[in-house]
Amino acid sequence: MPRQKPAPESAWDCLITECHVATMAGDDGYGEIRDAAIAVKEGRIAWIGAEDDLPEIAEDALDEVSLNGAWVTPGLIDCHTHLVYGGQRANEFEMRLNGASYEDIAKAGGGIISTVTATRAASLEELTARAGQRLESLIDEGVTTIEIKSGYGLDLETERRMLQAARQLETIYPVNVVTTCLAAHALPPEFAGRQSAYVDLVCDTILPTLAQEGLIDAVDAFCEKIAFTPAETERIFQTAQKLRLPVKLHAEQLSDQKGAVLAAKYDALSADHVEHVGLDGVEAMAQAGTVAVLLPGAFYCLRETKLPPIDLFRQHGVRMAISTDSNPGTSPTLSLRLMLSMACAFFRMTPQEALRGVTINAAAALGINDTHGSLELGKVADLCAWHIAQPAELAYWIGGNPCNAVMKNGFWTKRSY
Ligand SMILES: [Zn+2]
Repeated sequence: MPRQKPAPESAWDCLITECHVATMAGDDGYGEIRDAAIAVKEGRIAWIGAEDDLPEIAEDALDEVSLNGAWVTPGLIDCHTHLVYGGQRANEFEMRLNGASYEDIAKAGGGIISTVTATRAASLEELTARAGQRLESLIDEGVTTIEIKSGYGLDLETERRMLQAARQLETIYPVNVVTTCLAAHALPPEFAGRQSAYVDLVCDTILPTLAQEGLIDAVDAFCEKIAFTPAETERIFQTAQKLRLPVKLHAEQLSDQKGAVLAAKYDALSADHVEHVGLDGVEAMAQAGTVAVLLPGAFYCLRETKLPPIDLFRQHGVRMAISTDSNPGTSPTLSLRLMLSMACAFFRMTPQEALRGVTINAAAALGINDTHGSLELGKVADLCAWHIAQPAELAYWIGGNPCNAVMKNGFWTKRSY
């Protein structure tokens, strides 16, 4: 119908009707609103509630979209990825399954160092293009915010190039990219036997330089027997603190190094993996508000058996997030929604906890929960519409893609209904 008079300035840009919403607002639950409507203005949520309660201003909305009974959730947030890298490691995967030992694979130039070599050899354009292909799969399933770590360069130039590629992705795709510098991921081969000299390079050169260039939103490290010690990790955290950057930590993936306690001491946004964390770590995380980021894809690929202490996290009120950990070695996954299924199957999380883990709690793991991760008045209008009858289906289906519409910053970026 043509409009009789121009819409008033206060008119909403878009009114979404005939939907049910899992707002994920509040401390637990789905925050369900049945037969709901959502209004968007200037990229923010201007109104949300039951459609029956819509105010008169709704009639002036510039655009109205009926979702025909679809469920709407916040845009999904993948809060722990290593999406930017050169090459891939399917050859090792196949060698291993044909009986090759880790030694054989190392001799053939495999392992993390093969990714470091391939990443160092890749141009910025190549890194961006390859990561972009992977990102497209995630976006198609409703991801609107992603964290991307460096950590396959392990020298200033390549760590910079990885973070630049991550930043470029944000200009190409309808997604927010949060960057994390993980220069303390592994010891580069040229520093063999000189680990503390490499930590000096990270603290004295790589972090300050790339922070100054505006490429780093947070700082991460891998605290483990096969990586960096708690003392070395603390030096990295102290450097981050001086640079006024928040920290995160790959902690307690293979053993209890007390990394979570250390992370909490530095008010870390998150401690990630944490299968082996003890009660002291859980208590410290609860005290500091540090989010436990659980990574079922890596658990699956490594055929781990030690489960993260989900009940302890529940008892102590530690928020749990879930992420792909998308990386070429231990979690080559391109589906965040599959991680919901795995979190329920392996970790016995509930579908509701799993969904909180990729929305509001993932936002907390990135320090952006004031603006993202739930559908509430004034928050950024990042949302997905799903062709499902109830929210638990998001964790229930293994494969398939029920995401039929995505709005990013108030603009429809996918509409397939
Ligand atoms: Zn990781």
